[in-house]
Amino acid sequence: MAKSEKNELMDKLYSLCKRRGFIFQSSEIYGGITSCWDYGPLGVELKRHVKDLWWQENVTGREEVVGMDASILMHPKVWEASGHVENFHDPLIDCKKCKARFREDKALHYFKCEKCDFQFRVNGGFIEVKDEFRTYFKDDLYAQEPTFYQKSDCPKCGTAGSIFLEKIACPTCGSTELSPARQFNLMFKTHFGPSEDTASEVYLRPETAQGIFVNFDNVVNTTRLKLPFGIGQIGKAFRNEITTGNFIFRSREFEQMELEYFVKPEESQKWHEYWVEQRFQWYQKLGIKRENLRLRAHAKEELAHYARACTDVEYKFAFGWSELEGIADRQTFDLDQHIKASGKKMSYFETETNTHIVPAVVESSAGVDRSILTVLSDAYWEDTEHDRTVLKLNPKLAPIKVAILPLVNKDGMPEIASAIFSDVKKQMAAFYDQTGSIGRRYRRQDEAGTPFGVTVDSQTLEDGTVTLRDRDTLEQVRIPKDNIVKVLRDKLAL
Ligand code: ATP
Repeated sequence: MAKSEKNELMDKLYSLCKRRGFIFQSSEIYGGITSCWDYGPLGVELKRHVKDLWWQENVTGREEVVGMDASILMHPKVWEASGHVENFHDPLIDCKKCKARFREDKALHYFKCEKCDFQFRVNGGFIEVKDEFRTYFKDDLYAQEPTFYQKSDCPKCGTAGSIFLEKIACPTCGSTELSPARQFNLMFKTHFGPSEDTASEVYLRPETAQGIFVNFDNVVNTTRLKLPFGIGQIGKAFRNEITTGNFIFRSREFEQMELEYFVKPEESQKWHEYWVEQRFQWYQKLGIKRENLRLRAHAKEELAHYARACTDVEYKFAFGWSELEGIADRQTFDLDQHIKASGKKMSYFETETNTHIVPAVVESSAGVDRSILTVLSDAYWEDTEHDRTVLKLNPKLAPIKVAILPLVNKDGMPEIASAIFSDVKKQMAAFYDQTGSIGRRYRRQDEAGTPFGVTVDSQTLEDGTVTLRDRDTLEQVRIPKDNIVKVLRDKLAL
């Protein structure tokens, strides 16, 4: 797919989301605010289903995991202890020629093989290479971070670790006259109380995880959890990202679903492998196609000094393979830091050995919004044969499960359809629509991802049956109208 086609796909998804009420630009009537998004009537349902399924799978569905909901504003010392004040930076570069400002990894990166002189450049996550060399690249060389290619094996001559970075250039004008990278802290600051001095500065949390770590003792003391155990949380996080874009992929306000799984330090590797597999499976359970998902283990140089391992789940978005979730073996770093900074004891008492231990943690950190973008991208289907656009959403995720439609707006059909609607609505999210041609009404529902349509037609008046239409196959079967709820419940496995 050429780059413009990829952008076109994102544009189409963006307009479908707006047209059908999934996602709107925030504060649109004032010209919008960059990289903040509002979920509309369908979007909020989709989001709720994704979060509910995560919670069910990772918290309520497991014996050894509990949930919590920490506040967004926390004591500033939390972020000193966690390392965010010192280290949560992105390198920012200014172009001296056109004055553009961009994140270092968004620069044009020129790479070369030191053995065979093979050259390519990476621009916005895409490899740009002369056509005759394109075959040398395998699909899995696509990734967001250009630094990923540094020291990789040459795709042409095969020499191990021979690719090096020649230079970087401005993504806007191509100039190599750039400022050195400056570190820019990504945390949003605000003020507590009436005075706006530095003493009153607090941060909007850039991740939910720290709310779990600082409550470790509270949770251990109020539950009877035994290692290994987990604490899960879903909530808003804020990052003053330098480079945003790709719709809801990277925004300044977003939601995370995080699970901190505490284990005996000597068992962290085993549990890391376990959670990588669990999380990889979860996306497939959401209905995401297996071929569009992959795992990417971080190279040693990419790892934070305290992390033993980190693996990302990546999705093949229209703009390239990108991170959906990170699963990291963070050892005892987080609890150690808070123990040191707060002077409080935070440990787990192991009755078998009669000792206090600081557990290691395996963290899985997923973005709600990125999961939504994944679900939408994966479900988007242009059915050219039937001239319609369909969101082939997993029925469990579909905001509306069934549309109830009278074929025409007369002969008592609307009354029968309304009565069916009242019944069905008590059991599942349903939608009643009597305006416009039946074809247009079906198409609207196809775009909304509604898996089923029930139509009341003239035969209903004779024998009390209605048609049940399947969104994906377009198959229509007749069923007695009194059986609709049961049939739908069975089909949706409710
Ligand atoms: P990236 O490299 O893409 O900025 P990250 O490695 O900084 O992501 P983490 O700190 O590991 O991300 O956060 C965990 C998850 O939170 C990510 O995998 C992603 O799903 C989500 N996330 C992080 N930053 C954003 C953002 N700005 N917008 C939307 N989701 C985000």
